[in-house]
Amino acid sequence: MSTLNPADILAQALPYIRKFHGKTLVIKYGGNAMTDPLLQQAFAEDVVLLKLVGMNPVVVHGGGPQIETALKRLGKTGEFVQGMRVTDAETMEVVEWVLGGEVQQDIVGLINQAGGKAVGLTGRDGAMIRAQKLVLHDSQDPNKEYDVGQVGDIVSIDPSVVKALQDDAFIPVISPIGYGENNESYNINADVVAAKLATVLQAEKLLMLTNIPGVLDKQGQLLPELTPRRIDELVADGTISGGMLPKISGALDAAKSGVNAVHIIDGRVPHAMLLEILTEQAFGTMIRSH
Ligand code: ADP
Ligand code: MG
Repeated sequence: MSTLNPADILAQALPYIRKFHGKTLVIKYGGNAMTDPLLQQAFAEDVVLLKLVGMNPVVVHGGGPQIETALKRLGKTGEFVQGMRVTDAETMEVVEWVLGGEVQQDIVGLINQAGGKAVGLTGRDGAMIRAQKLVLHDSQDPNKEYDVGQVGDIVSIDPSVVKALQDDAFIPVISPIGYGENNESYNINADVVAAKLATVLQAEKLLMLTNIPGVLDKQGQLLPELTPRRIDELVADGTISGGMLPKISGALDAAKSGVNAVHIIDGRVPHAMLLEILTEQAFGTMIRSH
């Protein structure tokens, strides 16, 4: 952690504010940062600050713990395959209520309270996220497939509603729900949505806030930087598993598709996002395109 005093930190921010002025930042909001009230408030304040200094933050949220709580009330338990939530029809309903309702509106409220103007959207709004049923391949044996129910694979993203809101000083808050050909709903991993949206918006940065310091190696040490090759190795030997699989593959896709900076950072550190964007310090894991 830094030993800089507050004045140094503030002075350091100027070149970053200038560099990112008018640029789009896609932020995946997940993990503990979403459940701890102090971290929630710090997150909302950071988003508003970034907007006020002229950047265009776009928030994509997850909600694993909240979905889990709602499922438990119905006597269900969540099941995951390679970090993807197995989604039967009943689980899909819960995902729509919880993500598109409660969680989204909580975030909108927090940002508004911090002085911003947030607008909540799901992938249906503005016909934004078209999806189809995901065919999930085994990360180690591509010939093996899993049926994970109504989990969506993104067909296309139309970002026009997001752009319209940004241009008008609003902060979009997006729930990762897509719609299919027959108007059916799909539960899409929020990391996948954030990554694709960052690509489509040609974002300057993609920041993924999670509940761990970044990507860890076999010994549990933080990996500050990852190349595509190293990622392949870590996936192949099982070091990267579970929820880190969709995160890393989304992050890598975004980096390869021209998003300048892609970082997986620790959402448990208050204001981690602000420090990452506005200071020289490196946080978490940076994903390189080559
Ligand atoms: P989020 O809400 O951020 O999407 P997830 O639980 O989906 O959280 O993904 C993060 C989790 O991925 C970590 O908490 C950790 O348990 C798991 N994980 C698997 N492999 C790794 C790895 N190599 N480095 C870090 N985390 C990993
Ligand atoms: Mg996840």
